[in-house]
Amino acid sequence: MSGPEPSGGEEAKQAKEAEDAEKFSFMATVTKAPKKQIQFADDMQEFTKFPTKTGRRSLSRSISQSSTDSYSSAASYTDSSDDEVSPREKQQTNSKGSSNFCVKNIKQAEFGRREIEIAEQDMSALISLRKRAQGEKPLAGAKIVGCTHITAQTAVLIETLCALGAQCRWSACNIYSTQNEVAAALAEAGVAVFAWKGESEDDFWWCIDRCVNVDGWQANMILDDGGDLTHWVYKKYPNIFKKIRGIVEESVTGVHRLYQLSKAGKLCVPAMNVNDSVTKQKFDNLYCCRESILDGLKRTTDVMFGGKQVVVCGYGEVGKGCCAALKALGAIVYVTEIDPICALQACMDGFRVVKLSEVIRQVDVVITCTGNKNVVTREHLDRMKNSCIVCNMGHSNTEIDVTSLRTPELTWERVRSQVDHIIWPDGKRVVLLAEGRLLNLSCSTVPTFVLSITATTQALALIELYNAPEGRYKQDVYLLPKKMDEYVASLHLPSFDAHLTELTDDQAKYLGLNKNGPFKPNYYRY
Ligand code: NAD
Repeated sequence: MSGPEPSGGEEAKQAKEAEDAEKFSFMATVTKAPKKQIQFADDMQEFTKFPTKTGRRSLSRSISQSSTDSYSSAASYTDSSDDEVSPREKQQTNSKGSSNFCVKNIKQAEFGRREIEIAEQDMSALISLRKRAQGEKPLAGAKIVGCTHITAQTAVLIETLCALGAQCRWSACNIYSTQNEVAAALAEAGVAVFAWKGESEDDFWWCIDRCVNVDGWQANMILDDGGDLTHWVYKKYPNIFKKIRGIVEESVTGVHRLYQLSKAGKLCVPAMNVNDSVTKQKFDNLYCCRESILDGLKRTTDVMFGGKQVVVCGYGEVGKGCCAALKALGAIVYVTEIDPICALQACMDGFRVVKLSEVIRQVDVVITCTGNKNVVTREHLDRMKNSCIVCNMGHSNTEIDVTSLRTPELTWERVRSQVDHIIWPDGKRVVLLAEGRLLNLSCSTVPTFVLSITATTQALALIELYNAPEGRYKQDVYLLPKKMDEYVASLHLPSFDAHLTELTDDQAKYLGLNKNGPFKPNYYRY
């Protein structure tokens, strides 16, 4: 049987997807579920037969008081123990004597472990996958080099990959988003992690290099978020691709780079575009940002949104989430868009679609979420009113032209962690958050549950690419088969005690569907 279609190829490959999905042992639980409600509880026998199947795990979603305590103490603990010595200068070993890591302070490991355990409470699907599959170890022999945000939630993913047999080396895809105590906990647990909050650009690349360039260890899988790791390997160590079985990429930005490579005929291994999985794009990008945009803005600025004028640049998934949250708090929201379809959606959702230059003088907050560059230029910044807050929710720090603000006539004043006042000669101040880097991951936390969905998708994509028989995937960019997308969603439904309706035979025939899915064609847009 030939491999799945590249994601840019023909649509509606349901029959083939279903066939592929059958081969994927984790899927069988869902595919065969005979009852109305998705049932995982009685899989234990089947599990012995198919040890990698995922089963139900009853887990309370309640976040305990200690979670709140721990959160507030997380900030203070990290702040109070940070010193000025670069982690690169420090000699640190974990309790087993290993120094195969570079983190801010290994002594924070116990505290980070608590954070990871709290995250696990809301990542039931991933933990369930870990428990069900760790007997079979579908990632045995996998050497995964990863570059993602290093947070408690990604730690749960990394430890799941390790439990499934992988060896991991990890760096951060953002210089501000690392939770130092979590990185310490990973290092204590034996993961080769190279990351700390507040890395310099040089540190950033150094950390990636330490993960890739290792004597006696060569990666055979890449898990990337943003494409920087992939770019580094292409630039510095192209030979490594001889051993790489696949790249799993999470972000819009990184996926865009992969398609560019593919178009130029330079992609030399199969790649899985996780971003465009429905369970990633419609949940992480939309719901995660809807919940975390306000958190990031409030923690840094204490701003009140009611009646404030806000312009959101880009009305894709992230923009839609940001706009919905801001509107709900009574802000007056403007949208800028280049795409008439997204612009029309914004209009129909009740937002004024404008050019940035039309509103730049009057708005109180500017938020970019385009994945593009130079969306907010120095000219815009010059025209902003006093105290205007400027921030970015897109992956890269390219959306706001921050470099243009580093000129002698402007004064930078660091007023809080991640908050700079840029002061013009006439005294006007613009409030720049996280130096134009991704706001929510730099200045707030993000909802664990939604990250569980993305992490489960990433884990399945890695397992699929690593175990795929020769020839199933070629040197192209692929989407996760729809059936797996549906499977990731179904794994998360028990948390809500959601009861799915099952098609009758007659209904399935009428709609031309397999009763066990996939339920939508690939071109369905949700
Ligand atoms: P998307 O492609 O769905 O949306 C981006 C939108 O921006 C598109 O509609 C596009 O037409 C528009 N756009 C592009 N250039 C523009 C310009 N100059 N002016 C106005 N609009 C413009 O992508 P998305 O899923 O919304 O992701 C956007 C960015 O956010 C990406 O960089 C992605 O990696 C990142 N992201 C961030 C988070 C987070 O937690 N902060 C989560 C997911 C994705």
